[in-house]
Amino acid sequence: MKQGLAALVTGSTSGIGLAMAEALAAEGCAVMLNGLGDKAENEETRARLEEDFGVPVGLSDADMSDPAQIRTLVAETAETFGRLDILVNNAGIQHVSPIEDFPEDAWDKIMAINLSSAFHTTKAALPLMRKQGWGRIVNTASVHGLAASIHKAAYVAAKHGIVGLTKVTALETAEEPITCNAICPGWVRTPLVEKQIEARSKATGLTQEEAARDLLSEKQPSKEFVTPEMLAGLLIFLCSDSASQMTGVSLPMDGGWFAQ
Ligand code: NAD
Repeated sequence: MKQGLAALVTGSTSGIGLAMAEALAAEGCAVMLNGLGDKAENEETRARLEEDFGVPVGLSDADMSDPAQIRTLVAETAETFGRLDILVNNAGIQHVSPIEDFPEDAWDKIMAINLSSAFHTTKAALPLMRKQGWGRIVNTASVHGLAASIHKAAYVAAKHGIVGLTKVTALETAEEPITCNAICPGWVRTPLVEKQIEARSKATGLTQEEAARDLLSEKQPSKEFVTPEMLAGLLIFLCSDSASQMTGVSLPMDGGWFAQ
């Protein structure tokens, strides 16, 4: 990867986003972390990354459901590092319920965090990337951006939306040294999925580990979890010069889920 770059990774205090932020820092990139959760723990993570990788690391608890806070976060990142080269739209939440019971506020929140936040960050970041003459936008979609599952109406709709936004962003930047792509993970064992394993274990009487295997065998032919580090590896490739003619694509990393 080029040296001296600065990245913003939304939803990077946990799971996939944290692994992506670590991988960018390991490549010498300054990184702005973002996320909710325990403030002291997040500050520890920030300090650890700075110490381990010797790059400037910032931290923001900007709420990705609030467009004003999102715009401020993008501006703050550019001010802190003097530039913004890589934007990773990764923040996301889940709610599982049949449509007729799906709470309206859960629908609105998922749309705001999983889809609209990426529009607001992209809108704010593009002028900065254009001015600098280079940029990479990577959206964490999901295999649920390409295929549906029951009881995930808002999540599936938002992730299909992210795949669409990825294509439009790619076309609008096609003649510039800016690319936009999406990564579509299958099951990854993060706190977001741990909640679904717990729910399955409660509903079926299976142990946590049996419920995890059950979840995998239903959808993911490899019957293995994708790891955050594997997804981070794909992000680094998408940010490299080798990927400069790759834009507008949504790449599954899903143990064969989408091949079925
Ligand atoms: P996670 O729960 O471990 O991490 C989510 C991150 O988003 C956390 O840092 C959290 O603080 C942050 N976040 C949540 N709401 C926020 C808000 N309002 N404002 C700012 N930050 C907020 O989950 P994860 O599994 O690492 O998920 C990361 C992304 O990957 C999500 O977009 C998710 O949809 C996607 N994804 C996950 C899986 C999986 O199996 N885990 C599969 C496909 C796609």
